Amino acid sequence: MLPWTLLALFLQSLALNSASPSSSEEDGSSEKDGRERSKGSHGHWRYNDQDSWAMDFHDCKGKSQSPINIDTRNVAVDPGMAPIKLEGYDLTDEESLKLINNGHTLQLSLPGSMRIVSGFDDVFVAAQLHFHWGTREVPGSEHTVDDVHFPAEIHVVHYNSKYANFAEAASRPDGLAVLAGFIQIGLRENENYEKILSSIKDVSIEDSDTEIPGFNVLHLLPANLGRFYRYNGSLTTPPCFQTVNWTIFNESITVSRTQLATLEDTLKADRDRHLSKNFRAPQRLHGRRVLSSFGALPDARGRRVNPPFSADVDSANNGVPGNERVGADGGFTRGDVLATAFGVLFFVTLLSFMVYAFQQQKKYSRFKKDARQNVIYQQATKEDI
Ligand SMILES: [Zn+2]
Repeated sequence: MLPWTLLALFLQSLALNSASPSSSEEDGSSEKDGRERSKGSHGHWRYNDQDSWAMDFHDCKGKSQSPINIDTRNVAVDPGMAPIKLEGYDLTDEESLKLINNGHTLQLSLPGSMRIVSGFDDVFVAAQLHFHWGTREVPGSEHTVDDVHFPAEIHVVHYNSKYANFAEAASRPDGLAVLAGFIQIGLRENENYEKILSSIKDVSIEDSDTEIPGFNVLHLLPANLGRFYRYNGSLTTPPCFQTVNWTIFNESITVSRTQLATLEDTLKADRDRHLSKNFRAPQRLHGRRVLSSFGALPDARGRRVNPPFSADVDSANNGVPGNERVGADGGFTRGDVLATAFGVLFFVTLLSFMVYAFQQQKKYSRFKKDARQNVIYQQATKEDI
């Protein structure tokens, strides 16, 4: 078991090393950069023309691009990843935040007091958050899980505190960290999302902005931040810098159907063009490893994830509550063993009961036969008389 543990650790470190070198700024400022360039010699980029992005922005055809499809059968479980710890997210309404329609997304500027203080080697400072969405008919998340899109996706963009600002960090290999959450339709209105969506009408025109009161931004993310996927990728908009350390939470966020429709229907870009379907298609992995902080659970299609690093992951994962998982080398969970044992016990009991019942029936039928013979015999006797 020890050699396997060592091999797993070695492979994990390889995956981490290859993942970290390239990073880029996340969509926020990158989107702005893209627009500024487009005013110069570069063409204006659009979502309906994604294949041509690389003509103006070389990095868009790199080998560490985002978003990606997360194939849950092929993620490497790494429960040793440090949990995400956020600080300063609980803003008060005394602080005001700028909400912007930048022609590509709905973006909220965030103060530098909001930080990721644990989860990475460095502290990361918040810059902005924004959304990706589709239409009523087309779900618009950027990342997919087992090829399934969610209705929308939130990105909270941070830059490495060792750089002076977002613009400087954006092109550095360890420059950016983005927290991503999937948005689904739920039964109730999400009052936290309403703090943004109630002002969306004020920014319906491209390049317009407004101020909204601060609130606890943590509530825009899923309640459980402990279960996440991690990989190294890029900005999902030009200039596609490959400098983003991505964290995609497993638990999704719910908003009401009406709230999602508000996000899908309100904004305009390029004068009267409707701003929707602002998501990039999943990009090829090119050998990149996707890590997950948690073990096997049934995926979207009810299959079970089979993490490649079984032995050491098993022992490391034992302390995680409510985390049922399959052994790495196709082994069994404690539940599987118990179920099998109970099954065998049940079968043996059933068999014994059937044998007993058969013997009883045999005895009884012999007795009945005897009784019948007695009756016939008696009747015969009577007839004789
Ligand atoms: Zn984004």
